[in-house]
Amino acid sequence: MTDRLEDTLDLLQSLVGYPTVSADSNLEMVADLASRLGDCGARVDLFSDESGTKANLFATLGPEGDGGLVLSGHTDVVPVEDQDWSSDPFVLLEHEERLYGRGTCDMKGFIAAATMMAREYSQLELKRPLHFAFTYDEEVGCLGARSLIPELRKRGIKPAMAIIGEPTSMRVIEGHKGCCEYTVRFNGLEGHGSSPDLGVNAAEYAARYVMHLLSLRNDLVQRAPIQSPFTPPWTTINVGAIHGGVAHNVIAGKAEVEWEMRPVQNSDGEFVKRSIHHFVERELLPAMQNVHPDADIVTEVIGEVAGLEVMDDNAARDLVSRLVGANGAHVVPFGTEAGLFQELGMSVVVCGPGSIDQAHKPDEFVSVEQIRSCLTMLERLGDQLTA
Ligand SMILES: [Zn+2]
Repeated sequence: MTDRLEDTLDLLQSLVGYPTVSADSNLEMVADLASRLGDCGARVDLFSDESGTKANLFATLGPEGDGGLVLSGHTDVVPVEDQDWSSDPFVLLEHEERLYGRGTCDMKGFIAAATMMAREYSQLELKRPLHFAFTYDEEVGCLGARSLIPELRKRGIKPAMAIIGEPTSMRVIEGHKGCCEYTVRFNGLEGHGSSPDLGVNAAEYAARYVMHLLSLRNDLVQRAPIQSPFTPPWTTINVGAIHGGVAHNVIAGKAEVEWEMRPVQNSDGEFVKRSIHHFVERELLPAMQNVHPDADIVTEVIGEVAGLEVMDDNAARDLVSRLVGANGAHVVPFGTEAGLFQELGMSVVVCGPGSIDQAHKPDEFVSVEQIRSCLTMLERLGDQLTA
């Protein structure tokens, strides 16, 4: 156990040393992980993004075929600019049983533990496949997982379960809301404020758009699942920013609305998108283009993180609850890649070392004790995979 812990901490030190901020490359880190997993006899694939500067890693131990389990983590970390760190964020610092460094809790600690355990898993008679999925760009909209999942589907890889090792202080998490962010740009026609009919007022159309969004709030309250574990129990909409126009007496030529919703069930997200889409296509756009054919409304998707829906049947939740000795699972207010894996038909649970309270902050840390608990969970997992 001591060796295993020491080796995990050594690996964590290497991983923290790769400054894999989402904007930058993660290739060195995935190459390192790929060679370690390869040395354990895993079949390793790297899938690069279009720019060629980032890659997802997918590796498998044990037999081919359906079923089995995925250990999943993201390789990217949030930036350190404008944060007041007491030490170099990309050099692991151990102090009083805590390991400081960017990504220690979110979520290189879990990746280090999972990769280190591959050595032991490779010695077992695995009855089902054990996969490792390490993705890029989670912090900027789960882009890596979003491209990995169709790749798995294409290859007919259908794992039954996934453990997402986001920092939950090793608590068992079975659900979280989704998070969808949009920027909508209204392009109208400027003109003199004295003749509103000769222009297309982008600010006014933006206001109508916002009013339609807000009118959906009531429906969303009605649609809340009876047993919703969330606070509040329904899907929320927030209009975060409205920009547009130049002055009192000018017809606003351009306007912009930034809004988000946090669906408690994915069908709510579809409901809102469909409703606002119809409103734009059937009412706003025809009215704008009636005056000025070039007028338009352009929606940019900033990010769509699928929620992790709480399911009665969830084999991954039940398994991990047994492994960590938890009685009961919880929900969390932050988003993860879990919903994307769930969409592929897997049962999914979120459970990993470190606290979300330390994630994204200066002096981010994970405690040695949390890494130890994670290793214990992963060791017990190995026993399950041979049964
Ligand atoms: Zn994370």
